[in-house]
Amino acid sequence: SLSDRLGGVFDRLRGRGALTEADVRTAMREVRVALLEADVALPVARSFVEKITEQAIGQNVLRSVTPGQQVVKIVHDGLIDMLGSDTAELEIDVTPPAVIMMVGLQGSGKTTTTAKIARLLKKQGKKVMMASLDVNRPAAQEQLAVLGTQIEVVTLPIVAGQQPVDIGRRALQSAKLQGFDVVMLDTAGRLHVDQALMDEMKAVADIARPQETLLVVDSLTGQDAVNVASSFSEQVALTGVVLTRMDGDARGGAALSMRAVTGKPIKFAGMGEKLDQIEPFHPKRVAGRILGMGDVVSLVERAAESIQQEDAERMANRLAKGQFDMNDLRSQLQQMRNMGGLGALAGMIPGMKKAQAAMAGGAMDEKILLRMDAMITSMTVKERGKPELINAKRKIRIAKGSGTTVQDVNKLLKMHLEMQTAMKKLRKMGGLKGMLGMLG
Ligand code: GDP
Ligand code: MG
Repeated sequence: SLSDRLGGVFDRLRGRGALTEADVRTAMREVRVALLEADVALPVARSFVEKITEQAIGQNVLRSVTPGQQVVKIVHDGLIDMLGSDTAELEIDVTPPAVIMMVGLQGSGKTTTTAKIARLLKKQGKKVMMASLDVNRPAAQEQLAVLGTQIEVVTLPIVAGQQPVDIGRRALQSAKLQGFDVVMLDTAGRLHVDQALMDEMKAVADIARPQETLLVVDSLTGQDAVNVASSFSEQVALTGVVLTRMDGDARGGAALSMRAVTGKPIKFAGMGEKLDQIEPFHPKRVAGRILGMGDVVSLVERAAESIQQEDAERMANRLAKGQFDMNDLRSQLQQMRNMGGLGALAGMIPGMKKAQAAMAGGAMDEKILLRMDAMITSMTVKERGKPELINAKRKIRIAKGSGTTVQDVNKLLKMHLEMQTAMKKLRKMGGLKGMLGMLG
């Protein structure tokens, strides 16, 4: 698995401070191989690795995990980020009937998935009709009719000799007349990307104006996934993807490729041939599958938590001595970011809230915190320890290095000064002991 692979690469690194560029690049070669082994298409793997490399360089190595484990976590988070962190739902809240059109290669699982989704919607209390527009494959329309009987969902009566667009029109009309909530159109498959069939699909989309156009893809598709995804998404406006055969030994790579190429969420995963074997797509599960890792992720999460705890204690000790430099400010800012608001200490420090208000005009959002962090990153070690060294020339350099303005740097320095002053005052008043007591 990827974690084993990276374990070797990183053994020599244990206990070092931050992930260096060279370390990360070595690790990323392994990541890339792991992605390809999981069937992620090459161009997708390549651009993903590039993005992740930037994020990983310079991250601090947590003491209680190996750098390899930490890289796995970074890659895992990147995968989830890319796969979409939430489960995406069908968006069919329109004046009925809502139209769902299924497209994809022949044998990808369109007809089966049509019935699976119809069954789900029926369970949600929707009145669903299915129609097969597949006039190419013999008995394709009958196949859907049989599935309809199994799940007790109406299928549009078959009229011999009708063309797909006419069938689509008829389906819409009778759904409207009979008060159906949803019409599902199961289109004809293609063995390869075939322009005649693409045109047919576009013509159907034109008259049916579907709310959802779902591309059904076999998760075993592998490297070809990119071609399938790009040719379909060029021709019709997809709204989502369904990955079938996730019950088999697919390694999940197609999911990443689909998402990268179409930019659309994966809405369902097919988990078998039976009509109840469909699940909402779970990005976390698939990310784990792609990396083939055990519980590295939770290990790293636990380590990160304990480091935060150590940070808080270190900070308390420094405050007790009346020290508060840029490093301290930064760890406060990081805490704020992690906690989505005031850090545990920040709330107890007089002046902090006021300083925040001065800095942010009231609202301390993620962007501002990141910008402040970037400014501190652009400072030298000396400057961080002794911010009073920062003169006009240094301010210009810091602003340039962090993509901010001298004005921003001034605001940050002012905020730091106010906090430091508040801290010193507090210490003189002897109030710090009580405050630290609260940290217990
Ligand atoms: P279509 O040509 O795209 O309409 O594909 P079908 O729906 O006819 O499916 C082709 C084959 O794949 C059938 O034998 C299905 O039972 C099977 N199939 C579809 N979805 C899944 C799935 O999620 N898992 C498994 N194991 N088989 C599936
Ligand atoms: Mg079919």
